[in-house]
Amino acid sequence: MVKGSIFWRLLITVLLLILIGGFSLQQKTEYGGSAAAEELQPAVSVVSAYFSSGALPTAGKIALTFDDGPSAVYTPKLLEGLKERGVKATFFITGKNAERFPELVKQMHEEGHLIGNHTYSHLQLTKSNRDKFQEELVRTGEIISGITGEEVVYVRPPYGSWDKSFEKELNLLPVLWTIDPLDWCTQNASEVVKKVISRAKENAVILLHDEYASSVAAALQIVDELQKKGYEFVTVEEILFD
Ligand SMILES: [Zn+2]
Repeated sequence: MVKGSIFWRLLITVLLLILIGGFSLQQKTEYGGSAAAEELQPAVSVVSAYFSSGALPTAGKIALTFDDGPSAVYTPKLLEGLKERGVKATFFITGKNAERFPELVKQMHEEGHLIGNHTYSHLQLTKSNRDKFQEELVRTGEIISGITGEEVVYVRPPYGSWDKSFEKELNLLPVLWTIDPLDWCTQNASEVVKKVISRAKENAVILLHDEYASSVAAALQIVDELQKKGYEFVTVEEILFD
């Protein structure tokens, strides 16, 4: 679709340029060179209006994901900043925090963000705790859907430990990440921003945590910089199924 629209845009531009060329030649033969520049103006503004119509070719889709929240202090600031920028993100929340801050979960959902399961207590799956892990996933899914009214389909297993058989058993899709700036081990937002920007590319999934001031500040700066470069921020669902 995007490629198609770029093609038409280029074709229209070429046609407009041919028209302008023809027009300016005609002016030159009739009135001499000086009149042509003035007459060219309208045609030039048509071209620039076409390009500034907001549909510039994009650098692609990219997803911000936030784990371990919501946090009473930082999540509201993040949600406000995302809303101002028209950005949809994905939150992988723990059942424990969802129970503590249901209003924030509700707000995330109402503002168009995607909410995924991150177990109840941030449990890491090991060889010996499969049943407990499964129980936590089920419990967390129920807590979240009790708040949002929507079934939870996506899971980010803490530390990335996963067992494929849960996918069918629990009807859950695991979502990992492609860019991890290790935001939890620094308080320096610009360091996090730099790491993410240097690795940004189409369909990347960025991992951050909305429980630190620096991570929230970094997230909003990342949005500002990458939007300028033409990236569109979407939920992971749009990256996985497009
Ligand atoms: Zn986590």
